[in-house]
Amino acid sequence: MLSEALVALNEYYGYKNFRKPQEEVIKSILENRDTVAIMPTGGGKSICYQIPSLIFSGITVVISPLISLMKDQVDGIKELGIKCDYINSSRSNSEIEEILFNLSSDRIKLLYIAPERLESPAFCELMKNLNISQIAIDEAHCVSQWGHDFRGSYKYISTFIKTLNKRPVVTAFTATATDEVQTDIVNLLGLNNPKVLVSGFDRPNLKISTLKVPDRTKFLLQYVKENKDDSGIIYAATRKDVDKIYSLLADNNIEVSKYHAGLSNEERKNNQENFVYDRAKVIVATNAFGMGIDKSNVRYVMHYNMPKNIESYYQEIGRAGRDGENSECILLFSPQDIITQKYLIETSIQSPMRKVNEYKKLQQIVDFIHYNDCLRKYILNYFGEDVSYDECSNCSNCLIEGEVVDKTLDAQKVLSCIYRMKQSFGVGIVVDVLRGSSQQKILQYNFNELSTYGIMKDYSKENLSNFINTLIAHGYIDLKDGKYPTLLLNMESMKILKNEKKVLLKEINKVEKISVNNNLFEILRELRAEISKSEGVPPYVIFHDNTLREMSSKYPKTEEDMMNISGIGKVKFERYGELFLNKIITYVGDNNINLSSSFNEENKDIFEVATDMNLYTRLKDVRNKIAKKENIHFTRIFSINTLKEMSGRYPLCQEHLLDISGVGPIKFEKYGDSFLEVIKEYLDEFNIIPHWIHKGKSRLIIDGETRKNNEIAIDMLKEGRSIEEISDELECSIGTIMGYILKFIQEGNDLDINLDLKQYYNDEEKNVILKIISELENSDYKFIKNRLPENFNYETVMAVILEFHIYQYKK
Ligand code: ADP
Ligand code: MG
Ligand code: ZN
Repeated sequence: MLSEALVALNEYYGYKNFRKPQEEVIKSILENRDTVAIMPTGGGKSICYQIPSLIFSGITVVISPLISLMKDQVDGIKELGIKCDYINSSRSNSEIEEILFNLSSDRIKLLYIAPERLESPAFCELMKNLNISQIAIDEAHCVSQWGHDFRGSYKYISTFIKTLNKRPVVTAFTATATDEVQTDIVNLLGLNNPKVLVSGFDRPNLKISTLKVPDRTKFLLQYVKENKDDSGIIYAATRKDVDKIYSLLADNNIEVSKYHAGLSNEERKNNQENFVYDRAKVIVATNAFGMGIDKSNVRYVMHYNMPKNIESYYQEIGRAGRDGENSECILLFSPQDIITQKYLIETSIQSPMRKVNEYKKLQQIVDFIHYNDCLRKYILNYFGEDVSYDECSNCSNCLIEGEVVDKTLDAQKVLSCIYRMKQSFGVGIVVDVLRGSSQQKILQYNFNELSTYGIMKDYSKENLSNFINTLIAHGYIDLKDGKYPTLLLNMESMKILKNEKKVLLKEINKVEKISVNNNLFEILRELRAEISKSEGVPPYVIFHDNTLREMSSKYPKTEEDMMNISGIGKVKFERYGELFLNKIITYVGDNNINLSSSFNEENKDIFEVATDMNLYTRLKDVRNKIAKKENIHFTRIFSINTLKEMSGRYPLCQEHLLDISGVGPIKFEKYGDSFLEVIKEYLDEFNIIPHWIHKGKSRLIIDGETRKNNEIAIDMLKEGRSIEEISDELECSIGTIMGYILKFIQEGNDLDINLDLKQYYNDEEKNVILKIISELENSDYKFIKNRLPENFNYETVMAVILEFHIYQYKK
């Protein structure tokens, strides 16, 4: 059945492969099992119910809350050659009649409806006798009061399903992963023993930055100007801020639109459409905007204010880069945001229990902003995902950008002034004292006699108050909220005053463009805009940006070449193929481009390295010593493969080291010198004169080993090695090795080995875990871990899951 699904994916959508989670979800649906799919925004949920709809014999009804977007969604699906229509309050009676006729005569495969329809008994009566094979509920979290988009009409869904003559398979989709919402979806939608599939939440193409810039507005304007050809969403916390930013951008000749609850329905609809159709590149909005915006070419999402929690933040940034192209997510933080969010909680939430919950979540996003390690890792851990890397190389903490400057001395001046003013004043008056103002209030308190009076005259008033705000944003000073927020010292301040901690601030002097497009891309983008105008559909519905980009770099010249480009299916080619081919052929001719190699498979070069065992041993020693000194596990410094690569390539400087897999700028800064030193010593001692070759993006093979870690682990197991031994040798945790074994078994492989798993759990632990597995019919690690008390560790849980699967397999 899945091969049928793959054919549909190629023909209609022009995509070559399913993403991994899509495959599992579709398989479950095709087995007629009720299914809940939890995937991140942009993860590709729509295809999960659309493909089964093409394979099932009857109709698929999609319940979607997004009335204003339904037309666009349906237009997009029709463009693929799928028979599709929608019913909501915008359709006339005669239109609806025609649709119903088409439904009963097999002329529609997919019907989108708004949930409010289900409140009408007459409508339900009409649906009752149709041949419905799937009900797909999009944005299923709307059924839950705990979610952020509660929609009353969703509660009619379960009754509607019951009235149907034949119960179809019911499927539910959302990006919200919290337990309360998950439980509500299963119970309130009346799902029948559903399979719940939670996919990984990582979106590697999104660059995640949290910035503490001195002047947010200035930064924002610069950024938008620099990227004025690209689409972006700017979120602000209040309507007032939205209006302010909107005017600022409009005054600077940016094509901008805005969206908040204070506008009329009509205005909101128009403004949203302007953005979706690329007539306005930027939209400034409150968090009321965005659900269901499928626009795939949003290149950046900027938060002018800190959002209320990690869930909202991740959902909002998820709207960037749905097409898989590199995109940026920038959160601009100012301490004032915390006060605004607390105010919003106080005024908008009644129940004391939910209030406590919201405060907890607020604290978690504040922690995120002050987090010093990989931001992506923080988020993924927050959603319960284990992450195997320390640095993602695509967040503002992993990438060193901007210039780092030492501001310790200035910070000490500020801190000691706060101290001398007895920690009872706000930013404004501290600035005045430091700048030596002689206004009355200062004289009245005798602040002009403090030793810190006038010691920072070299700062302008604005710059000094920005500097203090940056210190607060970094957590070096506390802000006591209230009507007049006062500055307080904390543990960090003390460390700085005692010279135990340096204040190193990153200054971002230059805003950079997200991506550079070639001329052909611009030509194709123009063509797309023309077609969009004449056909009245959004540009991305014709082709996504990544499809244009692939065309503009591969220069397809025949129908066959075109069909090889991701995102071009049969119907799309028939409609638009010629038009785009003509532009490409003309461009290639005009610019004398040589096409000989553009359609060859992009075979990556192979870069082979042989370990120098003597040096490797020394490198391992240094690493383990540093680990001991810093009291961290040695795998957090460098993996064995990184050390092996170093030993075989003899890097001599920063540039060389950064070309070694597993060495990023942060690790270089921390450990680079120690390792370089050992390497130099070794080379001198043995009189080796190395010859450096750059590796770049080539594929690395060490000592001829082409197996991946999981394959090596299984082979070692077959050789009779124990889990501990393998864990030691590969330097992976025991739980990780168990994960490899589990995957191996789940892929249907034989493993005739007795594993001694009993040592990892006691009977009580085992029973608790098995109970969850059997009652909820789910043996997914994350799913189970979420339902266990904190004290269960990775090894214990994995050992029981593994044993459960081995036992099942033997049965
Ligand atoms: P979600 O509803 O989960 O937020 P969508 O269903 O809107 O996400 O899909 C996001 C984007 O990913 C769309 O542009 C879609 O065309 C694209 N997409 C989905 N599945 C695939 C795939 N298998 N290969 C390539 N692109 C895909
Ligand atoms: Mg969706
Ligand atoms: Zn990172």
